[in-house]
Amino acid sequence: MGVSMSGTSRRPIPYGRHAVSEGDIDAVVATLRSDFLTQGPKVAEFEAAIAAYTGAKYAVAVANGTAGLHLAALALGVDTSTRVITTPITFAASANCIRYCGGSVAFADIDPETLLIDLASVERLLESKPRGYYHGLVVIDFAGRPLRLDAFRRLADRHGLWILEDACHALGGHFVDDTGASQRCGNAVFADAAVFSCHPVKHVACGEGGVVTTNSRSVYEKVVRYRSHGITKDPALLQDNPGGWYYEMQGLGFNYRLSDIHAALGSSQLSRLEEGIARREAIATRYDDAFRGSAVRTFGRPDRGRHAHHLYVVEVPSRREVYDALHERGVLAQVHYVPLHTMPYYRDVGFESGALAHAEAYYERALSLPMYPTLTDDEQAYVIDAVLAVVKAVA
Ligand SMILES: *Cc1c(COP(=O)(O)O)cnc(C)c1O
Repeated sequence: MGVSMSGTSRRPIPYGRHAVSEGDIDAVVATLRSDFLTQGPKVAEFEAAIAAYTGAKYAVAVANGTAGLHLAALALGVDTSTRVITTPITFAASANCIRYCGGSVAFADIDPETLLIDLASVERLLESKPRGYYHGLVVIDFAGRPLRLDAFRRLADRHGLWILEDACHALGGHFVDDTGASQRCGNAVFADAAVFSCHPVKHVACGEGGVVTTNSRSVYEKVVRYRSHGITKDPALLQDNPGGWYYEMQGLGFNYRLSDIHAALGSSQLSRLEEGIARREAIATRYDDAFRGSAVRTFGRPDRGRHAHHLYVVEVPSRREVYDALHERGVLAQVHYVPLHTMPYYRDVGFESGALAHAEAYYERALSLPMYPTLTDDEQAYVIDAVLAVVKAVA
């Protein structure tokens, strides 16, 4: 159904959208004709391709990004005695993965210039407690902007913390570290483990899917084991070996496996990732240029490295009116995210609203505009005109 605007009928423009090619469809159909539907050669291929792309030593494909975060948290040893710091400006799964394991979550504030978790705010939390009180950090490359993880690693090392990078927005992003080396998001050089989502709005879609990356053999082995019921058949890992049939359940795991059908789609999509990012980059540049000098605040990009542009977030005055007026015009802008510490669930487990000034100020004005590779120039022009007109009308 089109939305009527000045006599023209136009398909609503979402904030994000997947792109499935004929090649993707052929890859999935070929898998349906093969001997494997669930975990088989396509899963192994997808894992190898993600490891090669990111530079991480190990990649484990899982049912979805949330499952990946849960498995990574388990592999990092999160339990009921674990306390973890994260950001409130993220999807709920970044914090929920700690709660699944019974751990507790504290929220640091964001840097208002980058919208990423603020190093100084994390440091203040750490220093407000005795050493050893906190055990880990879950950080996120929000909107696809790479977090400077080398600085977080130094802080984490001083306080004995592990780092889990929620890289669900950032496949294809990279930053330049203090030594001048380029570091791809999710390469797990500074983080102990990283997680990607392959949900259709993310860069590489499997339908549902996710990947955990790490350079640690022990994290890798645990993620593999917990992905499939805590069971291993690997002769090198068995405690006993009475015969070829034997397998061992060594911990309480889950069925978080990815199917070969999904993995075939993921590998085919991954082969077009660079094209997609180049298109996202062009869309971001055009928005940046269009909003310069207007009441729409943009967040640019890091001077060095590469923003993966999962989301194009802006701040606008009178957000509610702007959001409603854009939806009336068929521009389905979204808000990323309602701060996690204000959610009833997290308030109930002990976190107050009103404590994180930058996160709350950003949320009051936050809006995500359409950003996906198949957004056409014509559609983007329509979005820009609508945003500028609506913002002018409410100002
Ligand atoms: C999408 C997303 C997830 C969860 O991924 P799913 O594949 O949907 O489970 C986790 N964290 C962030 C930041 C995300 O954007």
